[in-house]
Amino acid sequence: MSFENIYLDNNATTMTAPEVLEAMLPFLSEKYGNPSSMYSFGGAMQKDLEQAREKVAELLNCHPTEVVYTSCGSESDNFALRGLVDAYPEKRHIITTKVEHPAIKNQAPYFRKKGLRVTEISVDRKGALNLDELRAAIDHETLLISCMYANNETGVIFPVEQIGHIAHEHGVFFHTDAVQAVGKIPLDMQNLPVDLLSFSGHKFHTPKGIGGLYIRRGTKIRPFIIGGHQERSRRGGTENMPYIVAMGRAAEFAARNLEEENGRVRRLRDKLEQGILTKIEHTEINGDPENRVPNTSNIGIHFIEGEALLLALDKHHIAASTGSACASGSLQPSHVLRAMGIPFTSVHGSVRFSLSVFNTEEEIDYVLDVLPGIVEQLRELSPFQSMEDVEAFGI
Ligand code: PLP
Repeated sequence: MSFENIYLDNNATTMTAPEVLEAMLPFLSEKYGNPSSMYSFGGAMQKDLEQAREKVAELLNCHPTEVVYTSCGSESDNFALRGLVDAYPEKRHIITTKVEHPAIKNQAPYFRKKGLRVTEISVDRKGALNLDELRAAIDHETLLISCMYANNETGVIFPVEQIGHIAHEHGVFFHTDAVQAVGKIPLDMQNLPVDLLSFSGHKFHTPKGIGGLYIRRGTKIRPFIIGGHQERSRRGGTENMPYIVAMGRAAEFAARNLEEENGRVRRLRDKLEQGILTKIEHTEINGDPENRVPNTSNIGIHFIEGEALLLALDKHHIAASTGSACASGSLQPSHVLRAMGIPFTSVHGSVRFSLSVFNTEEEIDYVLDVLPGIVEQLRELSPFQSMEDVEAFGI
């Protein structure tokens, strides 16, 4: 059997769901008015704008006015952190973690340049956050804790509820980057102690170019994009109607598919993972096997180069990743796996498979058919084929 494209890189981006594309198309052609206009050709679109917001709010179980549209997850992350820092200039300390996405992690140098302190909390071998270290890091200058909901490379879920309570007990804001959680697991903002939450449409089946920030009612925050009065003066810029409508429809699609995501998709992920662990020697799961989003598997395959494996998989039309898209491009070993203390022999050979509701059992069977042979060939070429080899090279 052969396939045109077995797409197992859904944490990087997802296919646009056909119904999402269909919903947005009129707004790319005949429905081109500006929702702020007085005349009905534009103004009538306010209704579409707000309907989409209601759908997103339903997915998050929050009030629609708490949802602000942005252009992507990275903008939401920048908005959350910079917006709070600008609103509370007297507070000079931010706490985050060593395993955040670059959209959070790479803001640290900017804040340090402005004279703020940034503390990054460590994780253990399974990717779990050190909560004692987190508590000890909070002081009278701490403005906010920013910790991701689910890690993009391993899928590990963080104890968001616990972290939120710790933050609020100390009068500290809590932001969570939920870009890898929204659409994969149920979220309930009415019962989560979270002030700000980032998400991104293209991780749950919209095209790239739309995201959002949940802002709990009453949270003081400065706009990141300063302009007109759109989004209740929280984000300037004429609304991106086609993509906003797309995200509304994608939120409905995600809500409808949450059960399948946690049922069929989880079973396919587990089948793939168990197949790899039993068919290929010297392999292990990176992260906490129990506490993960249902679509993600990060597997350490000792004694191979992850990039070589990706190229070989590509020849079979299988798309996977060695970690975050940015880390794949840079050939630097992933900062997430390094923070977890994954050994040298597998950190370079770690591969992330991330599934979606569009994957099938036949695809997983095909991957399990071809992968063992590919790994065997690569290991034959590798200078390191066992721990003894590694020790002989003095590494
Ligand atoms: N945060 C996390 C955890 C992510 O995985 C990503 C994208 O991979 C982002 C933020 C950035 O989202 P976007 O690509 O929409 O800017």
